[in-house]
Amino acid sequence: EPMAEAMAELSKKLGLFERVRHLCQAVDIPLPGVVVVGEQSAGKSSLLENISGIQFPRAQNTCTRMPCVLTMLTDPMIPEPFAMVSMDSGAFESKSRCKVAEVEGRIKTLTEDHAQGEEFISRKALYVRVVRQSGPQLALIDLPGVTHNAEKMKDIHEVTVRLVEDYIKPQEMVILCVIPAMSDFGNAEVIKLARKFDPAGLRTLGVVTKCDDAAQAEASDIVEKVLMTRDSDVRLALGFHCVVNRSQKNIDEGMSRTDLWQKEVKVFSDSERLRTLPPENWGTSRLMEKIASVQEARVDECLPKIKESVRAKMLQLRQELRNLPPQAETEADQFRLFNGILVKINADLEQRVRAEYISTEAC
Ligand code: GDP
Ligand code: MG
Repeated sequence: EPMAEAMAELSKKLGLFERVRHLCQAVDIPLPGVVVVGEQSAGKSSLLENISGIQFPRAQNTCTRMPCVLTMLTDPMIPEPFAMVSMDSGAFESKSRCKVAEVEGRIKTLTEDHAQGEEFISRKALYVRVVRQSGPQLALIDLPGVTHNAEKMKDIHEVTVRLVEDYIKPQEMVILCVIPAMSDFGNAEVIKLARKFDPAGLRTLGVVTKCDDAAQAEASDIVEKVLMTRDSDVRLALGFHCVVNRSQKNIDEGMSRTDLWQKEVKVFSDSERLRTLPPENWGTSRLMEKIASVQEARVDECLPKIKESVRAKMLQLRQELRNLPPQAETEADQFRLFNGILVKINADLEQRVRAEYISTEAC
């Protein structure tokens, strides 16, 4: 009940954001969002898919090759959900509109077209908007993984790190550091990156993926890693949260999201080790609640700043508008305007000639 109320309240706020997001993007004012960062194949795209229900392209190899900004919107009036996929954040033309099920294919095609050759990893972003009848309104950003694998691109590490930095830098962003359960948390470069831009850890959440694999391998230290009782050097103020996303096999078998969440519950209740984790440290639905509350805190903190930036920008644009010449609509107006310009040029020329004359006279 209170959660539903909080979600409704948050939706209202984010709805307002959505309306100004468009404006803000055009004038470079950052807005709150959620960004996933992690090594290649950590499960970033799978996590976003798990949270949003929107299928992203994902694979064992480098698959996400350009930033993908997904905005989830709600409109109770629409007959059925639809999506828009475009390279332009502002103008979504009618040809960018498609069925939600077509999003994955569209992202793949645009990635093929825009991220190739020298730009195997592209800094240009791709924008996806999904409009549904209900659900939380969220902005989720998928990024290419941080990698050293320079086979396709010489400076790939530098490029991928720079992309992560660009997207986590704004104070408005919630950072999800995606780390596979079996990996060494202490060596996670993305946690160090997040720390650099969010030293107090107010907006960084660790998300541990592939917990099903870890449970199967009976990895014994996973609980200690998640509860940060061992590696004291990888502490995150908001802590780590464990989830299970769809494996390649689950995808091939077409496992639904509800089935996946059931599988997740089973993984955490069947495993001797994972069973000892407190409930607030695992599960996709609780992760979504955490994201919503962190984002809400960000929204509260950033709203005054955003309002101020919008106000300043508006003043500046009004001034620019005032400085523009009047618009000429009729032919007579256009003639008058043109004539006015000619008169001005003429006066200007005359003045210069006179100035020249006077200076030669002086000699
Ligand atoms: P990204 O490069 O970080 O975006 O990683 P992807 O989301 O593309 O995932 C890489 C591979 O790991 C895919 O084959 C996913 O199906 C698989 N994967 C991701 N998360 C999980 C998980 O929680 N459990 C299992 N078993 N596989 C996962
Ligand atoms: Mg990916």
